[in-house]
Amino acid sequence: MLEVCNIAFSYGAKEVLKDVTFAAKPGEIVCIVGNNGVGKTTLLKILATITAPDSGVIRAEGQDIFKYPLKYRRNLGYLQESPALYEDMTVKSYLKYRAMLKGEPEKRIRRRIQEALNTCNIQEVMHQTIGKLSFGLKKRVAIADAILLRPRTILLDDVFAGLDRTMRFDAKEIIKSVSAFSSVVLTGHEMTDLAKLATRFLVLSDGRISASISTESLNEIEIVSRIDNALKGVVS
Ligand code: ADP
Repeated sequence: MLEVCNIAFSYGAKEVLKDVTFAAKPGEIVCIVGNNGVGKTTLLKILATITAPDSGVIRAEGQDIFKYPLKYRRNLGYLQESPALYEDMTVKSYLKYRAMLKGEPEKRIRRRIQEALNTCNIQEVMHQTIGKLSFGLKKRVAIADAILLRPRTILLDDVFAGLDRTMRFDAKEIIKSVSAFSSVVLTGHEMTDLAKLATRFLVLSDGRISASISTESLNEIEIVSRIDNALKGVVS
């Protein structure tokens, strides 16, 4: 369970997040939406412990993530907006390196890598150098990295960016398949795809969560229309 309580953050004098509060339970896929520049990436960077908030608390499994950042990161999968992969490494050696970095016991690493390769359907390129892969395959590698150790918290920034229709479909299936025991928080712009994936939308506006839209019992058109209205400030 990820609990985000009263987060505020400014870049110098620029106040971006004023008071952000929400929680994401295991099995939930929470999508943060909002206009460009509203602070979605900043919020995910804070949830990834890359940037510390000015105030507020974030707890994972009841523990303050900034008090125990190493323990938290061991159980965190994070897909950055522009993932930085080691282009000279092969897919398999990169995933092995990442698993070792997070302190996964040696005897489990091979199994975890095999699972991630299968889930992301990249077994065939596991011995290829990352730098030579297409954009879509690199993104799959970055997603494999994010889900590698079955993390309790998964953060996916601009998850579908640059992916074609088939790849978006595959990415949705991957995320659904790993979400059962994880709290997933993601951002993106492809509303129709996100509406098929997210269990809840949170609208970020003026530094706060201005609306929470549960997707249960709504169809995609209704979901997209409610988000549109919330972004325009219309109460529905
Ligand atoms: P979003 O992901 O919603 O598009 P961001 O979190 O990237 O928004 O950015 C929120 C605001 O903070 C924007 O106005 C952006 O220009 C500003 N910003 C982002 N990163 C920095 C930075 N490193 N220094 C100063 N301002 C920044």
